[in-house]
Amino acid sequence: MKCLIVNKESAEKARKYLLRYGLLKKGYKVFSKESFIYFPISGISEEVKRLAQFGTIGDAKFEKIKTNKNYKEELEKIISSSESASKGYDLLGDIAIIDADPKTARKMAKLLLESNKNIKTVLRKASAVKGLYRKRSYAYVMGKRNYIAHYKENGAIFEFDVRKVFFSPRLSYERQRIASMVKNGENVMVMFAGVGPFAIEIAKKAPKSKVVAIELNKYGYKYMLKNIELNKVKNVIPILGDVKKMAIKYKNFADRIVMPLPKEAHHFLDSAYIVAKKKAIVHYYSFVDKEKEFEAEQMIKEFFEKYGAKVKIINKRVVRPYSAKEVEVVIDFSIAK
Ligand code: SAH
Repeated sequence: MKCLIVNKESAEKARKYLLRYGLLKKGYKVFSKESFIYFPISGISEEVKRLAQFGTIGDAKFEKIKTNKNYKEELEKIISSSESASKGYDLLGDIAIIDADPKTARKMAKLLLESNKNIKTVLRKASAVKGLYRKRSYAYVMGKRNYIAHYKENGAIFEFDVRKVFFSPRLSYERQRIASMVKNGENVMVMFAGVGPFAIEIAKKAPKSKVVAIELNKYGYKYMLKNIELNKVKNVIPILGDVKKMAIKYKNFADRIVMPLPKEAHHFLDSAYIVAKKKAIVHYYSFVDKEKEFEAEQMIKEFFEKYGAKVKIINKRVVRPYSAKEVEVVIDFSIAK
């Protein structure tokens, strides 16, 4: 097997280069002999030639890396030896996102890149999700330096820059759940639409429906336009703007309203009231104390009763854990004005 042979001093540099350009042949063990390190390589000859800057191109026998199980165990070991690292990782297309201190992150990244051929980039969460646009900072760890994800979910594809917009693959089931409830032909309003996952998945499922999708972050909006195109949906109406200001334009429009802004949704119940038809269904997301999961129910009822509307709770569920003390919940309810 073709390989790159480098002396120990250059090994780290060479490894980084190989990972960054996808030239390390996966599934085989790197080994050392005397004072040299042997890397199995693959790639076209032009790329391989450039490796001569690190050492010699040669030929050697490599041992196969055994099973997936080994790598999982090793990953577990690395994670449990760190106080800060979270279990597992999120995969956004070929970008793996991990949550660990820089040193642990490097160890995890090396293992991920070597053992999973679908992973090309490893990033590390470098802040919480914060601010009006619900964004997070990411730090580059290893592999190809790329921040643009191409991520598939429930038969749709989404492109976005992870640094510029909110996106969580952990809401995938929730998006499928909502899309499956929509009746073809309903008018739907997705508030806080981000790069468009709720709106597009609904629109695909219900091609006769009109789906209005409002997003305030211009990058979110830009990627939503792109994603509408990528998914070839014709029935999403993307809007750049503030839900509070746009609601009045869609007075009495919606049979169904999706409110995926768990931190603030309560501030937008008045907009939901304006947008709702005489009868409408609302999907309301919020972060709540683990111990008081569905406390918002009472608040929702009281809010709409003020306007003389009736509220009926249809369903409620925990969507995902959020922090040590909080979970994200969704409450599905109907209102009758
Ligand atoms: N629904 C998307 C995004 C949810 S995050 C998804 O599932 O991926 C919430 C989004 O609401 C963010 O993109 C943020 O920029 C947007 N946002 C926050 N306040 C807003 C407002 N007042 N009007 C419209 N969008 C808003």
